[in-house]
This record gives sequence, C-alpha cells and structure tokens, in this order.
Amino acid sequence: MAQVFCDLTVLNSQRISPSMHQVTIGGPDLDHFPSGQAGGYFKLILEPGSEGKKALMRTYTIRRQRERELDVLFALHGGNAAGPATSWALDAKHGDPMTIRGPGAPKPLPPGFDFYLIAGDMAALPAISANLEQMDRRAKGVAVLEIQHEDDAVAIDAPEGIELRYLINPLPGTRPTLLSDALRQVERPAGTLAAWAACEFSGMRQLRGFLRDELALTPRELYISSYWKHGLSETEHKVVKREDADAQGAPIQ
Ligand SMILES: Cc1cc2nc3c(=O)[nH]c(=O)nc-3n(C[C@H](O)[C@H](O)[C@H](O)COP(=O)(O)OP(=O)(O)OC[C@H]3O[C@@H](n4cnc5c(N)ncnc54)[C@H](O)[C@@H]3O)c2cc1C
Repeated sequence: MAQVFCDLTVLNSQRISPSMHQVTIGGPDLDHFPSGQAGGYFKLILEPGSEGKKALMRTYTIRRQRERELDVLFALHGGNAAGPATSWALDAKHGDPMTIRGPGAPKPLPPGFDFYLIAGDMAALPAISANLEQMDRRAKGVAVLEIQHEDDAVAIDAPEGIELRYLINPLPGTRPTLLSDALRQVERPAGTLAAWAACEFSGMRQLRGFLRDELALTPRELYISSYWKHGLSETEHKVVKREDADAQGAPIQ
C-alpha cells in the first residue's frame, strides 16, 4: 500500500484511563489517506529528518478512523510519559500541528476459525480492540490483556463468544511470561485454531514459544509481533526486532 505524508492538527486530547491517553488528529490531508485502516498503523513524525540526521518517528495504531479524523491511544508508563511520543501526546493541545506517514495495513484475525487465542499488552490494546470490533459476531475464543491498572479495562465491543481476561501488571515489560502463562491456561476446544499476539519483545518471545513452537500454528494461523522492548527506545528496538526476525528466518511483523 502506498504511504502518504499528512500534515494534520490535534483535534482533541484526553486521558481515557489511568494508563491510556487518547489524541484525536485530523484535517483535509486525510482525504489522501485510504479508508478502512482501523487497526492499521502510521508513523508519528516527532522531528523531521535533516541532512545526515534521520527523522524521529514512533509507530502508533489507528484505533478509529472517521472522515478526516483518526483516534490514537498512547499507553503511558505509570500514568507518565515513556519517551518522546508519549510526552508529545500528554502535551498535545487542540490546534497543534503534527505530521504522520502511513498507513501500514491492519492485521485482522483470519476469518472462519473455530477458536481464537488473542494476547497483548497496552501498546497492542488499540489494535486488539479494533480487530475485536471487526470480527464475525459468532467468533469464539479468549483474549488475555495485560493492563497496568484495573480501570484500564475500557469497554471493547468484542463478539459475545470472545472472553476478555484482564491481567494487572503495574510495571509493563517486567513479567515476560504473564501473557503466555495465561494463554496456556485457556481450555481449547477441538477444531481449528488461530492466534494473534503483540506486546513487549520478551513477552512476544514467550508467546511465540507457545503458539508457534508448541501449538505448531502456521503463519496463516498466527500473527505475532513485538511492539516495543523494555529499556530500549523504538529506534533501538527496531534493530533487535530485525536481528530476531533474521535469526528466525521470518519476515519482520
Ligand atoms: C505496529 C505497532 C503499533 C503500535 N501501536 C501502538 C499504540 O497504538 N499505542 C501505544 O501506546 N503503543 C503502540 N506501539 C508501541 C510504541 O510504538 C512504543 O511503545 C514506542 O516505543 C513509544 O514511544 P516513546 O517515544 O513514548 O518511547 P521510546 O522513546 O520509544 O522509549 C522510551 C522508554 O520507554 C519504554 N517504553 C516504550 N513503550 C513502552 C510501553 N508501551 N510501556 C512501557 N514502557 C515503554 C522503552 O522501553 C524505553 O525505555 C506500537 C508499535 C508497533 C510496532
């Protein structure tokens, strides 16, 4: 999909839970942005590149898309900024100019499976929420969701047959087996199975060990991605993610 740059403005900025901040961005440039991108992602350009210097960018999910408007959810760290992107979000005010580049295609759950396993932390909550909203209303499965505070469990319009299990961890990135342990406890009925998981890098590796190596889910049945890495900026995380994908002989997701 061709990517476009859009110069937009902040339309609204509000805390929606103790550890999640929502910013709505928009403007006429979104007329060039494809529709149907909820759950897809874009690059938030915090500093444009200049000669010899790369642009400072961070990756965020399109939680909702309306005409000329996008809602974006920023996971905070103990209610505070993690780095420049989350700082930007907390300072964002109506009318602030900003630029994005995108989109990257949504990664929905594949339709037609008997049961779904879904796992993610707060960075993946926007993509998981968008995916759950778009799933077949008859879908069945379990989603395990790592949040920092019980009030971070904001309403998600999931199919009735998808059970949402929240796990509270106030220190994201410090308990890599939390999500994989919870998924192992899910009773899986006989039939076809698909899974979707995204979270911190070490947690992703634990989930991959279970879903790909133990359950032998194939790429058609499994989407798994690392969204950030504890102690590393996104720029540094990208290097580790690339090395990991190369070592696995797998495409970067
Ligand atoms: C496809 C994709 C979609 C994504 N969508 C979203 C989204 O919709 N919402 C969202 O919040 N994140 C999302 N992320 C993750 C987001 O890009 C990273 O969390 C990013 O590092 C945050 O940038 P920053 O400038 O705030 O922190 P950075 O400068 O990148 O990092 C600074 C420090 O904060 C830590 N840190 C980074 N992220 C987190 C976190 N989530 N929790 C705790 N500590 C953290 C780092 O380990 C580092 O120590 C997505 C990532 C990908 C790959």
